[in-house]
Amino acid sequence: MRTSFLSFHVPEIGEQDIAAVAGAMRSGWITAGPRVKEFETRFARFVAADHAVAVNSGTAALHLALEAIGVGVGDEVLVPTLTFAATAEVVVQLGARPVLVDCCADTLNLDPSAMERAITSRTKAVIPVHFAGHPCDMDAIGQIAAAHKLRVVEDAAHALPARWRGAMVGGIGDLTCFSFYATKTITTGEGGMITTGREEWAERMRMMSLHGISKDAWKRYTAEGSWKYEIIAPGFKYNMTDIAAALGISQLDRCEEFLRARERCRRFYDEGFADEPAIERPARREGIDHAWHLYVIRIDPDRLRIDRDRMIALLKERNIGVAVHFIPLHLHRYYRETYGCKPEDFPNATAAFERIISLPIYPRLTHADLEDVVSAVIGLVREFRR
Ligand SMILES: *Cc1c(COP(=O)(O)O)cnc(C)c1O
Repeated sequence: MRTSFLSFHVPEIGEQDIAAVAGAMRSGWITAGPRVKEFETRFARFVAADHAVAVNSGTAALHLALEAIGVGVGDEVLVPTLTFAATAEVVVQLGARPVLVDCCADTLNLDPSAMERAITSRTKAVIPVHFAGHPCDMDAIGQIAAAHKLRVVEDAAHALPARWRGAMVGGIGDLTCFSFYATKTITTGEGGMITTGREEWAERMRMMSLHGISKDAWKRYTAEGSWKYEIIAPGFKYNMTDIAAALGISQLDRCEEFLRARERCRRFYDEGFADEPAIERPARREGIDHAWHLYVIRIDPDRLRIDRDRMIALLKERNIGVAVHFIPLHLHRYYRETYGCKPEDFPNATAAFERIISLPIYPRLTHADLEDVVSAVIGLVREFRR
C-alpha cells in the first residue's frame, strides 16, 4: 500500500512558467495589458477561432457569452444536469431559467434527444458541456439548435485540446468557453477564455468584462490611451491579469505535451481495468479526439458488496485521492426546490451518479503512481465482489 497520499490533481507548473510570471511582475504592468492580448492571439490561433477574449474564470466566460447573445428575463437555457454549478448559475444570474437535460448513457454528455424534448417557445440557447474532455455530438446538437433557432454556447472547461470530426473545440460553435482553473488541463491559477467567430460578440464581451466601458478601456493608462472613457452598459469586473496571462502563454506552449502525458495515464488505466467486469471504463465514440481532462470509471453495484461512497472512502484509506464529477444539478437542494427537479426525470444521470469515480490523471503521475491506483481499485473490487 502507498505510504504517502496521492493527490487527485497537481498542476503542472515548471520553471518556465515561474520565469514567465516573474517577467510579468518585473515588467511594471501586472493587470490586463500586452500579455493578455498576446495570450488571446495565441489561444485563438491554437483553437482556430477568429476571436478570443480572456477573462478571470470559466464562470465569467459563460456569464459573458450568455450576456452577449442576449439571454435575459423570460428566456430558458438548456443545461446538462451532469455538470458543475457554474454552467447553470450564470443562467439564473441573468434572470433566465436553466432547464436541466439528461445525459447519454455512454459518454455522459448532453443527450440530443432529451435536449429536443426540453425545448419550448422560450428556449434561447443550449450549453453543451464536453464532459471529461469528450466532445459532445455537435452534429445532432447543431441541427436541433438550428431547427429551433437556438444559440449554442459550449462549456469547454474540460475540452482543451479536443477535436470533433477533426475540428478543434473552440472553433466550431457560436461561442466556446474555457476554464484555466487550477485543476484544468492548462492553468492560470484562475482564468477563462471565450472564443467566437463573431466580432460583434467578441467586442461586447470585451467591453462587458471591464465595467461596460467603451472600447480599449485597459489602455487608458498608456501613452496611446486617453483618460476619457464612457460607460455604455453596467458591466462586470471579469478581466484577466497580465500575471495570469503570462502563465497562460507559457502553459499553452505545453498543452499538447500535457495531453500526451494524460494519454499515457489513460492507456495505463484502460489496460489495467480491461479484464475487470465490475469496472466500466470511459466511453469513446468514433470521430473525436478526447482531451482526457478526467478519467471517470463506473463501478457496477450489482457485482459488488460496497457502494460508490464506501469505495471512495476505502480508496482514501489506501492513500488514493479520487473525486466525483459531478453531483448532478437536479439532486442539489436549490434545483430541487426552485424547479421541482426529480431524480426519475434524469434517469441516465441519476444512475451514473451512483457509479462514477474520477481517478487522478495529470502529467506528474509516475508509472508507480498509476500502478498504485490500479492495484487499489482492483484490490477493492476483488475484496468486495458479490
Ligand atoms: C471548472 C468548470 C467550470 C468553471 O470554471 P471556473 O474557471 O472554475 O470558473 C465550468 N464548467 C465546468 C464543466 C467546469 O468543470
